Amino acid sequence: MQLFESEEEPSPPAGRRPVWCRLCGRPLTGAASRRTGLGPGCDAKLHPAPQPDIRTRRHEVEQDPLPGT
Ligand SMILES: [Zn+2]
Repeated sequence: MQLFESEEEPSPPAGRRPVWCRLCGRPLTGAASRRTGLGPGCDAKLHPAPQPDIRTRRHEVEQDPLPGT
């Protein structure tokens, strides 16, 4: 068995420095997340999608799946 002791941290490739979410601090991997500085979840929190009109939503009745089958 051979032991490899790495005393030096491998330098990250140029142009790919790590970026962390400025809200929750998680590392960002997606290109869009790195550009905005926010993870998908935090970005959705800060910029929630416009909710549909509640009057139209009232017509949408969730139906339970039919039993059997
Ligand atoms: Zn986040």
